[in-house]
Amino acid sequence: MSTPAQVEVHRSHLPSHVRTLVVGAGFAGLGMAATLRREDPDADVLVIERAPEVGGTWRDNTYPGCACDVPTALYSFSFAPSAEWSHTFARQPEILAYLKKVTADERIPVSRDTELLGADWDADAQLWRVRTSRGELTASVLVTATGTLSEPKLPDIPGLDSFAGTTFHSARWDHGHDLTGERVGVIGTGASAIQFVPEIADTVDHLTVFQRTAAWVIPRIDRKLPRAERALYRRVPAVQRAVRTLVYTYREAYVVALAKAPVILPGITVVAKALMRNQVRDGALRAKLTPSYTLGCKRLLLSASWLPTLARPDVDVVTAGIARVTPTGVVDDDGVEHPLDTLIFGTGFTPTEPPVAHLVTAGGQSLAQHWAGSPHAHRGTTVAGFPNLFLMYGPNTNLGHSSIVFMLESQAAYVRDALRTMDSRGLTSVDVRPAAQSAYNADVESSLSTTVWNAGGCSSWYFDATGRNSAMWPTFTWTFRRLTRRFDVENYSTARRTAEKAGAAA
Ligand code: NAP
Repeated sequence: MSTPAQVEVHRSHLPSHVRTLVVGAGFAGLGMAATLRREDPDADVLVIERAPEVGGTWRDNTYPGCACDVPTALYSFSFAPSAEWSHTFARQPEILAYLKKVTADERIPVSRDTELLGADWDADAQLWRVRTSRGELTASVLVTATGTLSEPKLPDIPGLDSFAGTTFHSARWDHGHDLTGERVGVIGTGASAIQFVPEIADTVDHLTVFQRTAAWVIPRIDRKLPRAERALYRRVPAVQRAVRTLVYTYREAYVVALAKAPVILPGITVVAKALMRNQVRDGALRAKLTPSYTLGCKRLLLSASWLPTLARPDVDVVTAGIARVTPTGVVDDDGVEHPLDTLIFGTGFTPTEPPVAHLVTAGGQSLAQHWAGSPHAHRGTTVAGFPNLFLMYGPNTNLGHSSIVFMLESQAAYVRDALRTMDSRGLTSVDVRPAAQSAYNADVESSLSTTVWNAGGCSSWYFDATGRNSAMWPTFTWTFRRLTRRFDVENYSTARRTAEKAGAAA
């Protein structure tokens, strides 16, 4: 097999026009481009990527212990199986290597170091006018694949700028900074923190974890994939496909607990509490670490090492709020000062305020202005008033139970069918009808209202500035697959190439 360096397609110069421009080279953008190239190897598609390398979240998140908490059997492209995974839950370096290999194998044209600066819909010319850090181009269709969990969110704490030590966010880990023997503070107890905190506990002198909300945790049952098993997957791909189907099926069963019949959740809660009793012997600490909301409301975290780490004598869990940061540490709401050399933010991202929404404009209005703090889209992908714009990992496509890659492949199929439909009908633009979009969102909202994400008694990043859950997909993923299998052109206003323009184009 060729190495990525030999076959990877580089674009040093931007074309003046491209049929489909994809912004972002993570799982979403690469999956989108691969889907189009698989249908037509000459498909006119270009991916622009602001970083020097592909990989998205798996390029940016390099913190110690970074791994996927969804089984890799499912967290990989269905069209690009790999028998090389080391564990059932793959580690970040191998997921990044996988994405680089897919880029090469699928011959995806990627223009690196190319940042989107702005994209304006030109209704007269029926195309997007796009400005990038490497120049301008036009595109018939624009696909944003900029990630939902890509823009680090820093806490707004008084005095933070005065801190004399080192600070960094989990998604921008400072590998040049040695934590050995330091007093380290970590703000946050989400999916990122629970992966890196146990990894640094042995290195640092003392760890202080600032917990605003406790997390429900169950063990990650991970295992090494033996060489024989990997060889079997290589030789008999049907076996690997069967494993994928099995994992997919049992993961869908989680929906019954999380979204359909929360009555099952108390049973899982008993298991999580038993784990806590077993791993945290100190009753006072256990009380601090026991969440007050229904399990599943926030992302259910998987770790066998998080709770034992918090129970170590050289680790403090601070549940009093953070009052302020001083040059030498953090003062909590009880007035206790925690001296620190380094402060690490495991404080998450800005999913409901995606920066790309400020850059995309149609009819004199940016997507961010149009959304007014509450992202919404038709089938998670198109927005009324923004013709020929498709959002990968758009509003209400996030999952609490399965692999986002499944959703991304569904969206990519929808976009592919939209392009086919435009070709076969001679359409220059498609713009979803507001009524169709509203009806769709009303359905989503109504389905979400009884799920644990909405009714579980927690606050989470799923809720936007208006208090609406604009992140989660409310039901089985096969329902989303069914909805995106065919481009529902009947729900769109369309513009057709006029005979004159068609003639000129011919
Ligand atoms: P997160 O889930 O949003 O967690 C952020 C943490 O920081 C929460 O504990 C939050 O507390 C706390 N926090 C935020 N601002 C704070 C403040 N001002 N003061 C005190 N505490 C504050 O972020 P994340 O852990 O980076 O995970 C984000 C998402 O990324 C996950 O939900 C998941 O979808 C994805 N992820 C996936 C994997 C994977 O393996 N697939 C791994 C990591 C992350 P509150 O709970 O009180 O808000």
